[in-house]
Amino acid sequence: MPADTLSSISAGALLAMPRAGARDTRPGLAGMDPDALAAWMLERGEAAYRARQVADFLWDRGAVSFEQMRTLPAVLRDGLEAAFRADTLVETTVLPADAGLTEKALHRLDDGRLVESVLMRYPARDGLRERNTVCISSQAGCAVGCPFCATGELGFLRDLETAEIADQVRFWRRRLAPLGDRVTNVVFMGMGEPLLNVERVLAAAAALSDRRRFGLGARHITLSTSGVVPGIERLTALRPQYTLAVSLHAARPGLRDVLVPLNRRYPVGEVVRAATAYADATGRRISYEVVLIDGINDTPRDAAEMARLLRGRLAHVNLIPMNPVAHTPWRPSPPERLAAFAEVLRAAGLATTIRRNRGLEIGAACGQLAAEQAEAPTPAAVGRRRERLERESAAALAGGGA
Ligand code: SAH
Ligand code: SF4
Repeated sequence: MPADTLSSISAGALLAMPRAGARDTRPGLAGMDPDALAAWMLERGEAAYRARQVADFLWDRGAVSFEQMRTLPAVLRDGLEAAFRADTLVETTVLPADAGLTEKALHRLDDGRLVESVLMRYPARDGLRERNTVCISSQAGCAVGCPFCATGELGFLRDLETAEIADQVRFWRRRLAPLGDRVTNVVFMGMGEPLLNVERVLAAAAALSDRRRFGLGARHITLSTSGVVPGIERLTALRPQYTLAVSLHAARPGLRDVLVPLNRRYPVGEVVRAATAYADATGRRISYEVVLIDGINDTPRDAAEMARLLRGRLAHVNLIPMNPVAHTPWRPSPPERLAAFAEVLRAAGLATTIRRNRGLEIGAACGQLAAEQAEAPTPAAVGRRRERLERESAAALAGGGA
């Protein structure tokens, strides 16, 4: 039975969380497309309109159990229960931060895996409507291994199912509904690389943007990628109206090899070319995300190279000071360096925004909370890792134009 609990996380509670185990083989209902659900009904001799009724319970009324689907015949509810899970999030713990404007949820899945989602509330101001942005995970862990990222440190655990992705958004919808609020934006910037789980991510985004299901405008959904070129190309072929965010971090190939190891497979020039093709096909501006690390990728030369790479493209650059994570020796860039970097980009005609980190105190950067609960690496392992990062980044920084 799913349970939404509001509590502060205690070390004891975390240790009590089960380790990854056997899977519940029933698919989550939120991952079923409407035609498949209608076919399932017909196969059982049920009227097709029952599928619509179930979808209303799930998407409009936020049902998390089949018992809540009161107007369905008991035998149908039992049949649904045997075939599907009404909610794939077994237990959720919420941590408030940022004077209540940010909340972070840690979701436990059926096999004990933990993934995170975050709600960021932006009150109405300066004629802008209120926004409630939900940041969701697409994988448990991540194979890309960016050294400044807590999820990267976890390594790849598994892909999330379509329903596990969509259920994170349904969770926040239930939480906002009693306040008379709703989710207005969804960003795939939690744990995992969305375009390495592209089919499920696209299915979840389709459910979220389908008028008959979650009903969010496609333009209110952002897919963030570290640069999986085939995934970007797959997206371009579909021409959706989703916003594409590219985690750039460095324009220099040698430095980007260190910061985003996937750069060795899909070099930065190819990534920007693929993203530009997406912008051309959809007319949507690309968001380039740049996490700035003190003394590593925030130099005037890095800013100039980035300006050269992006100049003239349909682009918006977000500069984000790195959220400190335990396993790196690195620190966030100081505000004056962020401002200077932004100036170089703006002088090249690039729209640039400096983002402040939200929910820093609860580790709102991707994967930090879940990483804290994974088995802690030994101090010696952390030390070795820090040394290696220092060595690699020093080599990249010394590496001239590369
Ligand atoms: N894998 C995808 C999406 C999830 S990461 C991607 O990399 O784009 C979402 C964003 O969080 C990325 O832009 C990533 O660079 C950023 N991020 C990761 N660790 C961070 C940290 N320690 N401080 C600030 N941003 C971080
Ligand atoms: Fe994976 Fe994104 Fe973290 Fe890199 S920043 S390790 S791609 S989740």
